[in-house]
Amino acid sequence: MPVLDTPATTATVSHWIGGKPVAGQSGRSATVWNPATGEARAQVHLASIEEVDHAVAVAKDAFTAWRATPISRRAETMFKLRELVDANRRKIAELITLEHGKTIPDAMGEVARGLENIEFACGIPQMLKGGFSEQASRGVDVYQIRQPLGVVAGITPFNFPAMVPMWMFANAIACGNSFILKPSERDPSVSLYLAELIQKAGVPDGVFTVLQGDKVAVDRLLTHEDVKAISFVGSTSVAKYIYETATQQGKRVQALGGAKNHMLIMPDADIGMAADAAVSAAYGSAGERCMAISVVLAVGAVADPFIDAVQERMAKIKVGPGLEEGNEMGPLITREHRDRVASYVANASAEGATVTVDGREDPASKKDGFFLGTSLIDNVQPGMKCYEDEIFGPVLGVVRVKNYGEALKLINDHPYGNGTAIFTRDGATARQFQFDVDCGMVGVNVPIPVPVAYYSFGGWKSSLFGDLHMYGPEGVQFYTRAKVVTSRWPDPDSSHVDLGFPQVR
Ligand code: NAD
Repeated sequence: MPVLDTPATTATVSHWIGGKPVAGQSGRSATVWNPATGEARAQVHLASIEEVDHAVAVAKDAFTAWRATPISRRAETMFKLRELVDANRRKIAELITLEHGKTIPDAMGEVARGLENIEFACGIPQMLKGGFSEQASRGVDVYQIRQPLGVVAGITPFNFPAMVPMWMFANAIACGNSFILKPSERDPSVSLYLAELIQKAGVPDGVFTVLQGDKVAVDRLLTHEDVKAISFVGSTSVAKYIYETATQQGKRVQALGGAKNHMLIMPDADIGMAADAAVSAAYGSAGERCMAISVVLAVGAVADPFIDAVQERMAKIKVGPGLEEGNEMGPLITREHRDRVASYVANASAEGATVTVDGREDPASKKDGFFLGTSLIDNVQPGMKCYEDEIFGPVLGVVRVKNYGEALKLINDHPYGNGTAIFTRDGATARQFQFDVDCGMVGVNVPIPVPVAYYSFGGWKSSLFGDLHMYGPEGVQFYTRAKVVTSRWPDPDSSHVDLGFPQVR
C-alpha cells in the first residue's frame, strides 16, 4: 500500500528488513503525532533486542555479496535512486510534513539537500580510487585500497527525517556496506518510503534496513559485535553517550550533537540583509534546525535598528499547518517540546532579559496542534539559561556587545561549536573571523552555512564526538578502511635469505 494512503491513527509503522515491511513483535510501540492537529497519527513499533539481532544477521548476510558487487554497479543504484527521489520529491516532502510539521517548501528544501548526497555517491568510483607507488623498493610496488566495514548503523534525529539518513546511507551503501537505519520514533514513516525507493533502485534486499525503535534498539546496536560503525545525529547528551559506549566496544563512531549558533553583526553590516537572514535562520522550521541561528551578537549601535528590522519581519510570518499553502512556519514536534521551548520565554524576564516579542501571545499558539509563535528576547547575557541552553524552537536572543573581540570570546567560550555566521561588508574582518572562530562551519553573510555534499558536515566542541565529519569525502573515509598492499613478483635471481628488517634501498 502506498505510504500516504495509510489511514491515520490506526496505522502502524513497521520495520523494513530483508527487503520488506516486517511488523514488530516486541509488543512495544510509541505514538506518532500529527503536530499540526495534535492528533495521534500512527503507532510505531519499537524493536526488541531479538529483533535487532535478526536485522543485523540479515544485513550481515547481504554484505558478503554486496561488497563483491562491482563499484560501477553499486554506483548505478545511486544514479537510479537519484532519479527516483527526484521524481518523488513532493511525496517525500508530504510525509515529512505530516509527522514533523515543517512547511512543504521547507520539506522540499530538506529533500533537495538530502538528494545532493545521493548525487555525490554516484561518483563513488572516483572517491574509492586508491594510491599506487611503483618501485617503492627494487621490484616492489605498494598500493592502498579502501574496503567497506561491514554492517554499519545510523541513528537519526526527528528534525530532518529524510535528509540526515541520506547524509549517511548514500555513502555507506555506495562504499559497499550494509546500512541499518534507526530513525527517530517521532517521525518514522518517511524512512519506509525511502526503503521502497532504495529497493526499486536495485539495491539488494538486506543491504538497507530500517529498524524502528528507542533506546532498547540503540543500545543493542551499540554493543552488537557485528555492527562495525555508528553514525549518530541528535542531542549532545545522547551523542556523548553513543560515542563513549560504542567506542568502548571498539566501533568507529561519528556522533553529531546539539548547537547554539551565534550570528555576529558588525556595525558596517547591511541591516536589512542581516535582519532577513536572522529571521529566516532563527524561525525557519520553527527553529528546529541544528544550524538555526539562536543568538545574535549585535556590535555597538547596530542593535536598535537591527531589532526594529527583525520585529517588522516577524510580524509578517504566517504560522499554521505545514500542508496549507502560504504558511511559513509550522508547529513544534510534540506538545512537551512546545511547552519546554515556551518555558525559556516565560523565564527570560526573571533572568534579567527583555522579552520584546512573546510567541506565547501569538494567536497561532492558541490553535490545535503544537504551535508556538516567534519570540525575540533582548538583553540576553551569558549565564542565563536562554543563552546557555539549546532551545530548539522559534526563539531568538540578542546579546549586545561592545566590539568584535567581546563577540568572538562569547562564541569561543560557548560549549557548542556547530555553526556561526558573521555579517559585515568588510572582507578583512570576515577573514579574521574565519581564522579566529572555534566552530566547524562558518558563514560570511550566509546564516545557515550547511556545506554542499562534496564538503563534509560537522561541528566542533560539544557539537561533535569523533574524528570524522559526516557525508562528503570524510563520509567516504568513515565508511571504509584502508588496506596497504606491498607486492613483489617472483624473481629467483634476487631471492636470498635476509634476517634484517626490510629496507627500501
Ligand atoms: P535525540 O538525541 O533525542 O534523538 C536522536 C536519536 O537518538 C533518536 O533516534 C532517538 O531515538 C535516539 N535516542 C534518544 N534518546 C536516547 C537514549 N537515551 N539512548 C539511546 N538513544 C536515544 O535528538 P532529537 O530530539 O531527535 O533531535 C534534536 C537534536 O538533534 C538537537 O539537539 C539538534 O541540535 C540535534 N541535531 C544535530 C545535528 C548536527 O548535525 N549536529 C543535526 C540535526 C539535529
